[in-house]
Amino acid sequence: MAKRKATVSISECVACGCCIKVCPRNAIAIPNGVYANIDKELCIGCGKCAKECPASIITLEVTEA
Ligand code: SF4
Ligand code: SF4
Repeated sequence: MAKRKATVSISECVACGCCIKVCPRNAIAIPNGVYANIDKELCIGCGKCAKECPASIITLEVTEA
């Protein structure tokens, strides 16, 4: 069954942290202080982070996993 997973365009991320606050799975972190990293194992593809990102650089991609 196809699932959706969020992906950050890391070169465009401004590390604002807005996406972290809205993720219901705590799947997002900025471990290096430079760009957001999404844990694909935790992400359920809800799309909340993508809606919240002021730079609109989070996309939801279909995976078969
Ligand atoms: S799509 Fe949902 S679960 Fe996945 S990282 Fe974004 S807010 Fe979290
Ligand atoms: S909301 Fe967007 S710009 Fe801000 S940390 Fe998340 S991915 Fe980066």
